[in-house]
Amino acid sequence: MNRCRTTFLLVTGCVLGQATRAGAQRPDTAAVPTIGSKVGKAPRSGGFVPLYIEPRTGQLWLELPAAGTRFLLCASLATGLGSNPVGLDRGESGNCFVARTQPAGGRQLLILENWGFRSGSGNHPDHVRSVEESFAPSTVASLPVVAEDPGRALVDATDLVLRDWRDVPRALTDAGDGAYAFVKDRSYVYGPATKAFTRNTELEAALTFEAKDRPGPIVSRLAPDGRSFTVRQRITLAELPDAGYRPRELDPRMSFFGIEFKDYAQPVNRPLIRRWIARHRLERADPANPQSPIRKPITFYVDRGIPEPLRTATLEGARFWVDAFDRAGLKGGFRAELMPEGADPLDLRYNVIQWQNRNEIGWSIGGGLIDPRTGEVIKGAARMDSHRGRTSWNVAAALTGAANASDTHFVLGRVRQVTAHEVGHTLGMAHNYIASTYDRGSVMDYPAPRVRVDEDGRIDLSEAYALGPGVFDILAVRWGYGIFPPEHERDSLDTIVREGIAKGLLFLSDDDARPASASDPRANLWDDGAGPEEFLERQMAVRRAAMRRFGLGNLQPGEPVATLQERFARVYFFHRFAVNALARAIGGVEYHHALAGDGQQATRIVPPARQRTAVAQLLAALAPAELAIPDTVLTLLGPRPFGYEPNSEQFGSRTGAVFDELGAAGSLAQMVLDPMLQRERLARVVQQAARNRSALTLAELFRSIERKVWDAPADPAPRDAAIRRGVQRALAGSLIRLAADSAAAPDVRAMAEATLERLGGTAASRGAAERGTPEARAHWHALARQIERWREEREVPVPPALPAPPGDPFGDGYE
Ligand SMILES: [Zn+2]
Repeated sequence: MNRCRTTFLLVTGCVLGQATRAGAQRPDTAAVPTIGSKVGKAPRSGGFVPLYIEPRTGQLWLELPAAGTRFLLCASLATGLGSNPVGLDRGESGNCFVARTQPAGGRQLLILENWGFRSGSGNHPDHVRSVEESFAPSTVASLPVVAEDPGRALVDATDLVLRDWRDVPRALTDAGDGAYAFVKDRSYVYGPATKAFTRNTELEAALTFEAKDRPGPIVSRLAPDGRSFTVRQRITLAELPDAGYRPRELDPRMSFFGIEFKDYAQPVNRPLIRRWIARHRLERADPANPQSPIRKPITFYVDRGIPEPLRTATLEGARFWVDAFDRAGLKGGFRAELMPEGADPLDLRYNVIQWQNRNEIGWSIGGGLIDPRTGEVIKGAARMDSHRGRTSWNVAAALTGAANASDTHFVLGRVRQVTAHEVGHTLGMAHNYIASTYDRGSVMDYPAPRVRVDEDGRIDLSEAYALGPGVFDILAVRWGYGIFPPEHERDSLDTIVREGIAKGLLFLSDDDARPASASDPRANLWDDGAGPEEFLERQMAVRRAAMRRFGLGNLQPGEPVATLQERFARVYFFHRFAVNALARAIGGVEYHHALAGDGQQATRIVPPARQRTAVAQLLAALAPAELAIPDTVLTLLGPRPFGYEPNSEQFGSRTGAVFDELGAAGSLAQMVLDPMLQRERLARVVQQAARNRSALTLAELFRSIERKVWDAPADPAPRDAAIRRGVQRALAGSLIRLAADSAAAPDVRAMAEATLERLGGTAASRGAAERGTPEARAHWHALARQIERWREEREVPVPPALPAPPGDPFGDGYE
């Protein structure tokens, strides 16, 4: 999931001067009291939009210019439900809008301007008007004027905040968790976080939702009483930035996300859609002099509530960007400090790095507020999940033993890295998942810890994480934040991009790396190294070494032995992301987001020899010796200790409370087969073979799998034989599901059918043979019957694999 990326804001347009004719309903002004007499002793929170909370009724009053005003309005969730599948997360941002208030007969209307459709600057006023009048704004609230002073109106904004801006019930129905409805009489303005600052005013309300019928299972698990739950919603009213900011056009070869809108003033040979990047404002004291100092650095403030030594590591991680800006020729452009004592993180003047405590592992998020008119970031907010340090410690304990993990080098390295990553998002940068192929080229990649096995077979974490920004980060700062004379800006930016391309500093992001069908083996989450071949080899060597040494030493004295299972999961599935990465070489296509004329080759097929090597290497990972669990480990994995609830980090089991070794092996086998038999990947194999006689063909791929999995010689050791049966079962099921998959390419389905026919034949003869153990004969007979049932009755088996512990092997959650 891609939570950490600030969403592209398609914000809605500006229609000015559409005064309503509601003035006719204006009640007798004599009935409206002065502000002073109305608010009485209610305390005033002075600032951008001053406010009062009426102590008796809990009503929220805002003091606004009587003639109307404009500001940025953003809605977000201040507190969450605590569920990843539902996604009502603490700190979840919604869209920001340019809003304005407009007096209308005893009320102030709140109107969201439409900035999604524009007439670019410098055009004829009639054209501007034609666009403005073609697209509608949204009038979202009518705020009663309850008191007046000359030039000032006091409005009742209670209904504005006691309203579900997020559409919370929809999130629950989308997650299949029952029907809930907003209940106003159990909702209230939340005083402690409702206050005005110099440049912003924060309005927070606790909103309660109640089950219309039966409570949803997720809510029931998370809330004390599943029939209702309360989350806090925050509405930010922020000062609109002045016109001094210069937007920068988005370039798909560079890693900045941003805003987009339709510009009807563009000539017909230019695109209608315009895209501008998100970035902070950065100026030199003397704009004409490229040597002059930066006028006001982008400054981030670190939460004082972070405990040491994590707080210092957080500060050091944020300061990766000090280095990046300096090396990008913008010396002094970025600073990171501790939050001033007593300052409030909600204050718009502070870009913040905040600590988040949650019940379980959750997101670290880099976000902020963006001006939907220009893409200017007006506040950056990175929220760091406090579980990170603990889960990193668990990874270290799993790999090197609990005693060695007490050296916090690994944990602090990870905290620095992830802080730099989240701050990168708040600077406008997207993920760059190809950067790990050029030696930790960007903190915006998801890093696998660099783990080595030393000559004595010990695991070495000393170089686990990068100690500073990557080369691509510096390039990105130069491109996104470089200050150029306007007449040279376009050329200067293009030169920077070309320089990066020439040096191989490439950029591929979420849509290139996250889908199961992704085609470029260079773009992966959680990888490290020049190529997936070497990476898988290294990860498997680490895994073997860690499994050999795994035991009581991976626990601290006093920890229940059975909890080794959670720690072991990180070792057992240690290579899963490397497997995933290497499978992308099969039918693989490397590509660049090239622009016409930039000289980049848009696409390139992964050479057939490399594809064949990848197949062989992946199949080697299915050998029973690689799937087995050493006796020294297995004997320690006992039933759950008394008083310890099961958790999602455990393996599945068909052996009751006893650890299920064959089940674990089956989960892992499925994890290797699935990406090899991914339907779009196989369709690419067909397509490549249709154009190139030397390409890997689908028949060849299926034969290779068949030889290694189906036709392997009988294993003399009963355990290996039992593990092998699990792999064969996984293969049969996968092929049947592929043949049944109506979304798979016809040639892929046909080849799956043909292969099944052959496999069914050999299984039947082995099942009927006199040779072999009773288990083997029963197994082959069952597989033959399963294939027969598919062929005759179209029965599709459910995957036999038990679910593996979810999440990443590095236990990090998401960032
Ligand atoms: Zn991220």
